[in-house]
Amino acid sequence: MSPSLAVLREVFGYEQFRGPQAAIIDHVAGGGDALVLMPTGGGKSLCYQIPAIVRQRAGHGVAVVVSPLIALMHDQVGALHEAGVEAAFLNSTLTADEARQVERRMLAGEITLLYAAPERVTTPRFLAQLDSLHQRGLLSLFAIDEAHCVSQWGHDFRPEYRALTVLHERYAGVPRIALTATADALTRADIVERLQLEDAQPFVSSFDRPNIAYGIVEKKDATAQLLRFIETEHAGDAGVVYCQSRKRVEEVAAMLATRGLDALPYHAGMEAGLRQRHQDRFLREEGVVMVATIAFGMGIDKPDVRFVAHLDMPKNIEGYYQETGRAGRDGLPADAWMAYGLQDVVNQRRMIDESPAAEEFKQVMRGKLDALLALAEATDCRRVRLLGYFGEASRPCGNCDNCLNPPQVWDGTEAARMLLSTIYRVQQQSGISFGAGHLMDILRGKATDKVTQHGHEKLSTFGIGAAFSEAQLRGVLRQLIAVGAVAVDAQAFNTLQLTAGSRAVLRGEQTIQLREGVATPTAATKRRRT
Ligand code: ADP
Ligand code: ZN
Repeated sequence: MSPSLAVLREVFGYEQFRGPQAAIIDHVAGGGDALVLMPTGGGKSLCYQIPAIVRQRAGHGVAVVVSPLIALMHDQVGALHEAGVEAAFLNSTLTADEARQVERRMLAGEITLLYAAPERVTTPRFLAQLDSLHQRGLLSLFAIDEAHCVSQWGHDFRPEYRALTVLHERYAGVPRIALTATADALTRADIVERLQLEDAQPFVSSFDRPNIAYGIVEKKDATAQLLRFIETEHAGDAGVVYCQSRKRVEEVAAMLATRGLDALPYHAGMEAGLRQRHQDRFLREEGVVMVATIAFGMGIDKPDVRFVAHLDMPKNIEGYYQETGRAGRDGLPADAWMAYGLQDVVNQRRMIDESPAAEEFKQVMRGKLDALLALAEATDCRRVRLLGYFGEASRPCGNCDNCLNPPQVWDGTEAARMLLSTIYRVQQQSGISFGAGHLMDILRGKATDKVTQHGHEKLSTFGIGAAFSEAQLRGVLRQLIAVGAVAVDAQAFNTLQLTAGSRAVLRGEQTIQLREGVATPTAATKRRRT
């Protein structure tokens, strides 16, 4: 029996390795560098814990695990203690005395796995201690968890991770393993470059979570839609509802509570003690619905979360994937439900446009937002789209909303041209731009006060779009914004303007395909019926 398998059985009490674990563990225990991409629940922890134990037994000393989350460190160290493994953490929750004691044991090479936050690892004091271990051949391994945090292209950039390059430069011979559950091609390349992992062997698992059924709906009355979704599909189930702002978290939690649901708010603006109590209730009790900002979730391991709902659109697919990935860790059926609308697109665009970042960075962020929007507007299999984004080919899944209820598609190119010419004519006639509502009134031939006040009922485009519903026109507009054929000017009341990209649509070089906004049963209802 290999030493790794022996450790798996004796220390952790599991019979067999899962998926690529054996290959990763052998590679790292043998002194190689590795970049591990594995979905949540795939079993990443053992990929560095077992090499650490094997190498400690062979006399290589201490493994250092870099982790951004205190709660996660505590959980892991607690579980390792129970398994009889010498593990400890160094973080701000320790008193100075306790920290000194951990350091002493570490320097004596007595600790197998030492967990520390990135900002601690790169302090001169800690590096001096690592130097001492290294000189005596007692530095066995570096594990860098949540490695996507090193990339500004990822969805959770933490500048402290940048300083981790020092590990490679200073301790070149010590094996390193970097792990993440969410990284698209760009983020992956950035991890390799930033952490100097050019020579690391990549281990890429499938990102598919077959038990999660994806469904995305167009927002009409988002909170009512959410309530209907929970009441019909997930009465009594534990779930997470993600909202964009703290205010909205509070409102939605209160609304769900008045409807008899056990819903609790969670966001970074709440008092720490209350937030902790809500988290504890979510973990310990059954059927609690956590309404939260994205501050909630990382490092929270609750196996029976039956649904994750997004009431507002996240900023990119990596974030969406990471957040929906918290559903169904136990492998049983779970739902990922999202509602999105024009306002989401406008808001996200505005946040990018108004951020102080460099233009290059904004371009990348816009591209990532567009990819998410394309997923939302997709008329084919969501899973194929989602996995495709992470570079993985797959077949239609048969259990997402689009597979179960293929949406009707209509060609919105003509409507798009009408919209664009209206924006153009209004701008020409009045010398200023207008917002979406006004433009739609003109198109649909509604002589509102504002329309007549500006003489817009005299425009040649007045009423030419009367055949389209407002919802249809909003869909068209969403697409136009997504493909960059219309710009939203956040500095001027979200008015709409033509862009260089408008021309391709006006000339008919680019078509606009839309899904018919029909109310279809969600994946789970259909599953239950069949
Ligand atoms: P990740 O960090 O990738 O989300 P974890 O390391 O937390 O995943 O592992 C998820 C769960 O799977 C844990 O409960 C872990 O104990 C279990 N697990 C991991 N590897 C195995 C294995 N080879 N056999 C059985 N259970 C495993
Ligand atoms: Zn599908």
